[in-house]
Order: sequence, then C-alpha cells, then structure tokens
Amino acid sequence: MRQRTKSPLYQTINNELEDIAKQSLTRSLVSHKPLEKGWIRRNGKLMLNFSSNDYLGLAGHPEVKQGALQAIHDYGASASSSRLIVGSHPLYEETEQAITSWKQRDSALIVHNGYTANVGAISALASRNAVVYSDKLNHASIIDGIVLSRAKKRRYNHNDMNHLESLLKKDKDIENKIIITDSLFSMDGDFAPLEDIVTLKKHYGAFLIVDEAHSSGIYGPFGRGYSYQQKVDEEIDLFVGTCGKALGSFGAYVVADQIVIQYLVNKMRSFIFSTGLPPSVLGAIQASITLVQKDEERRRNLLQKSKLVRSILTEAGFNTCLSDSHIVPILTGDNETTLTFSSLLMEEGISAVAIRPPTVPPGEARIRLSTMAVHSDEDLISACQVIKRIGKELGVIT
Ligand code: PMP
Repeated sequence: MRQRTKSPLYQTINNELEDIAKQSLTRSLVSHKPLEKGWIRRNGKLMLNFSSNDYLGLAGHPEVKQGALQAIHDYGASASSSRLIVGSHPLYEETEQAITSWKQRDSALIVHNGYTANVGAISALASRNAVVYSDKLNHASIIDGIVLSRAKKRRYNHNDMNHLESLLKKDKDIENKIIITDSLFSMDGDFAPLEDIVTLKKHYGAFLIVDEAHSSGIYGPFGRGYSYQQKVDEEIDLFVGTCGKALGSFGAYVVADQIVIQYLVNKMRSFIFSTGLPPSVLGAIQASITLVQKDEERRRNLLQKSKLVRSILTEAGFNTCLSDSHIVPILTGDNETTLTFSSLLMEEGISAVAIRPPTVPPGEARIRLSTMAVHSDEDLISACQVIKRIGKELGVIT
C-alpha cells in the first residue's frame, strides 16, 4: 500500500493518547452480548451487568422487539430523509401522541438521541443575549449545548440553591434566563431539588429545562418522571427524555408547550439537518411507552433491587455518594484504584464500569453500579459479597 503523507496532526494525536494513558484514562471498546436477567457475555465470559442503562430490562422484551419488527415490515428500514423533507412517516405522529398523553402535556417532538436533544434545544432557545444557569454536574450534552448557543453560562454548585439564587440576582436586568438541570444525576445517583428550583424560576422569571434522561420511565405515576413524583411537572417549561435508557430503545424526545415545539421544529439544527429516526426505533419506543405505563411492578422491582444493593454496600462502609435511586456509585477516589477495582470485578464475572475524569471531577473516580429490574436478588447479594471482598483488598473499605 502506498504510504500516505502524514500531517503533523498525527503526532499531536499520538501525544494526546500517551498523555491520556499516563493518567490511566484510556477508554476502549469491548463488545458484549446481552443475555437474560441482566447477564451479558463479554469475551466469552459470563458477567452480571451493572453497567447498563436498560434499567427496566425492556431492550429484550418480546413486545418491544415485535414493535420494531412490525414497523420495519410496514415502513421499511429508513426514514430516508430529514423529517422536514419526506422523513416524517406516520409512526412519528403516533409516537409523539403517545408521549404527550403519557406526559400529559401539549406537544412533543421525537429527536435522534438525548445528546442532540440537549445540544439542539439549548442552542436554539438560548440566544447570545440569554444567560443559562446550569448545575455543575449536568450532563456533557447540556454543557455542549450551552457552548454552542454562545449564551452566557453560569455554573452553580451541585444542587446549591443559595448559589443559584445569588447568580440569578446578579442578572436581574437580563430578560431571557434559562435554568437547566438533570432531574437525576447519573454519576451520583442523587436528585435535583426541583421544588426549590421551581420557586426560583418563578421568582426570577426563568425558563426551566429538566433533563429526565435517567428518571423517566421509572419515577412518578406511570413512570412519567421525577418532576411528576415531586408534583412540579406543570412548572417545567421543557422536558428532555431519552428512549435509550429505561425505555430500552433509542432516540429521545422533548416535551413542551406547542409554541415551543413549533419553534424547535423551525430552529433546532440537530433536528432539521439530519435524517429522521428509522421506523424500527419508533415501533420499539411505542411498545416501551405502553409497557412502562402498565408495568408498575417492573418499576417497583427496580427500586427494591437498588435499595438492597445500596443497603449492603453502605453497611459495609462504602461511600455511595448521595445516591437515593437505582444508580448506586461507590466512591473509590483515584483513577488507578478505580481501574483495578473494575478489572478485578470483571475477573469475578461482574461488569461495573470505572468512571473517571472528565466524567467526574478529579479525585472522585468511582465504580458506578446501575441495578436492573430483571436482576435477581440472589445474583445481587452474591455480587455485593464480591464487591465487599475486593473493596477490602484495595483498602477502599476497612
Ligand atoms: N442527558 C443525560 C442526563 C444523560 O445521562 C445522557 C446519556 N448518558 C444523555 C442526556 C444523552 O442521551 P442519549 O444516550 O440518548 O444520547
């Protein structure tokens, strides 16, 4: 093969990769085959999966798979263009209606994924003259959306309402203020104080966006989301939700008043300039939304499993941060210990990812355990025994 002329950028890339490796921050891709009851096969080895966002175990549900197959049968494999051209097949309308009726709101728009939902909606809504207030632990897609919007960014300390209020006060002459928060923080497993945020939003006339990526499908009546559990849903101006986590599929949605959705259809670049989701995905989403609403037991199971895991691990002395949800992190501190912890767990047949900076602040690396409704209590109890033993060996607990 002829040798390509190499730009100096290759050297820069190489240096960066070496730097990442020195800090024990290298990430790599490994394939997994999902099995039943929250088990996976990785490199031929069976493992209990604590790393999935398929919290309710719907990704392999027969009705979800059938929804996808039927949609392919009826509409083919692709939307074939962006929705504003000819990609808006009838499944879109049906799915958006299913979402508005589930969320009891005016209007919804299906988009490609949670990442582009945040990037697209925030950059469309926040003009250069706006100020966006964002929790320091908000998801990367929120941060990227704010950067792209070129609005002024104010990061408030995690869940710190005094800090948020002091920032809002300083901007009293600015007309367009947008507050954005995750409802459930995916690396800490704690919730945003939505009631207090709503009080501030009302007082300071802000527009409130809540990203329910990790809570939708699980919390609140019919799994509508944490805002509904807290009974503040009517005060939320725009919800972001993904279908790639509890709904066990792919894609995402934004839910808001009709006028806001109409605006996004006209202004949201990640929506306008990209091929619509394929029919199979919409068929799967519809099936999951139906299941989530009627299968309360699945949601109860998930919370019972996470309570079990959290209580065993906190009793053993692990720091589970402020987790109060189905996401149970165990704080390990430095990157190397965390990587060793994760690989020892893998050797014992437990898949639990090492979460390191920049996903979490430096010095706060952790093992993130996400429980699934389909895990069995016996599997969880024996996995916790292994976690305790390795935690002791590594000096994470005494
Ligand atoms: N928001 C939050 C809070 C998330 O945790 C994630 C995914 N990790 C996203 C948005 C992105 O969602 P998706 O995977 O559908 O792109």
